[in-house]
Amino acid sequence: MNPASDSEEADARARWVGGGRVCFVGAGPGDPGLMSARALELIAAADVVLYDRLIPERALAGARACAELIYVGKEGAGPSVAQEETDALMLDRARSGALVVRLKGGDPFVFGRGGEEALALRAAGIEFEVVPGVTAGIAAAAYAGIPVTHRGLASALALITAHEDPAKEEQTLDWAALAAFPGTLVFYMGVRQLGRLTERLIDAGRPPDEAAAIVERGTLPEQRTILATLATLAERAAEHDVRAPAVAIVGEVCRLAAQLAWTQRGPLAGRTVAVTRAQAQLSSLAAQLRSLGARVLEAPAIRIVPRTVELPPLDGFDLICLTSANGVDILFDLLAKHGQDARELAGARVAAIGPGSAAALLRHGVIADIVPSRFLAEGLLEALDSLEVRRVLVARAAVARDRLIEGLRDRGAEVVVVALYDTVAEPIDATTAAALAQADYLTFTSSSTVRFFLQSAAPGPQTRIASIGPVTSATLREHGLEPHIEATRHDIVGLLDALIADAAAASGPA
Ligand code: SAH
Repeated sequence: MNPASDSEEADARARWVGGGRVCFVGAGPGDPGLMSARALELIAAADVVLYDRLIPERALAGARACAELIYVGKEGAGPSVAQEETDALMLDRARSGALVVRLKGGDPFVFGRGGEEALALRAAGIEFEVVPGVTAGIAAAAYAGIPVTHRGLASALALITAHEDPAKEEQTLDWAALAAFPGTLVFYMGVRQLGRLTERLIDAGRPPDEAAAIVERGTLPEQRTILATLATLAERAAEHDVRAPAVAIVGEVCRLAAQLAWTQRGPLAGRTVAVTRAQAQLSSLAAQLRSLGARVLEAPAIRIVPRTVELPPLDGFDLICLTSANGVDILFDLLAKHGQDARELAGARVAAIGPGSAAALLRHGVIADIVPSRFLAEGLLEALDSLEVRRVLVARAAVARDRLIEGLRDRGAEVVVVALYDTVAEPIDATTAAALAQADYLTFTSSSTVRFFLQSAAPGPQTRIASIGPVTSATLREHGLEPHIEATRHDIVGLLDALIADAAAASGPA
């Protein structure tokens, strides 16, 4: 074998083994839940992510801390220079051996220039992968309750781009063919093109009274759907001040939205609810609020910082009290660090202050022996009434109410307190603060969220304040705020229930 072909072969092998690679990844239309498993996996593994403007919020949250995240989006109809720069960046990073994720909104090969970028890679001899995404036209329609095909109404679907400047577009789009198309038309477009587009279609013979819709910010919490006819769509959209990003849908299938619209239907539909608890706990509450139809404004006011503490041997206690889900998770992290697990708690009774702590315990394989019916220190003390306790471990936040400890000591128990974590302020940024001023509800699930929230933000003038219980309400009053709503059951379910009741009362009898 001659040396030249030897090195050629080595080059070829290096391309596959040590060489960089580019993955064109579709991030979907906006709802983070529509990102594919492969997309999330690649983002988590990437050395470099080149991303566009219309990608879901926090799409990059799973990227490695050391990953290079580069914004290459264009504002509006971007200049072609930017495209060349993007190509150059992509080639450069891939050549240096990096795993490059080229992250695009929707699907990378649907009006995303993914094909052009892939051609540039092929020409340069760089391998790539394509991860399809949920494309905006189909997703926005689906979230508006419009099936893009429907037996008897539409058996074909056309995806059309109407972005380019109208002069150019007139040459590229065949309006007569589009007007004659036997099915649903979905236009990816700048909202300004809407008037021209509907006119062209009607002029070319599409019936003016055909159903049509425009979906703004499809799949996002702020999604709006305007239903009209082809003749009235542009006017309706202007009346409602529809803005980008939006897709226009032309076809009788749009009529089905009246029956099939399924988003924003729950008891909190149309309400914006701000959530102030720490990010780790925020998502479950946020998800529940969303499933009730609410828009959720995530405004975490606190952050949990675990302490490095030495745990006393747990077998010396006959009762272990856990007063928060955070405390439970951190306790088990500490145990794990010493190669220990749930069995360390085997000799003691375990008390959880409420269902959140109990659920956290269950995740670690422990069924709480005691969960009071009132989720407060007082409730826990009552629940412990008939129990004889000599030595108690209370594992909790560094700063917390002492009521439980005092109560246990009054009863003659020896109480060991372990401060597992600190609760620190998470400053609220200006954008979130501005959005907060418009929120319908502001929820507080602990005194610490109240105190830290008020350090950097304030409720809006029309915002109703919802408190999880009397302790949190008292802290609100100390700060001069009267809660409009207080949950009767002091947990998340109770808080949601109180919000639903308040929203129903505000909108009057149904
Ligand atoms: N590759 C993308 C499309 C890029 S073109 C995809 O497959 O979805 C950008 C256009 O997509 C926008 O101008 C708008 O018409 C549409 N679009 C993107 N996100 C949207 C959303 N959330 N709701 C409605 N339209 C959207």
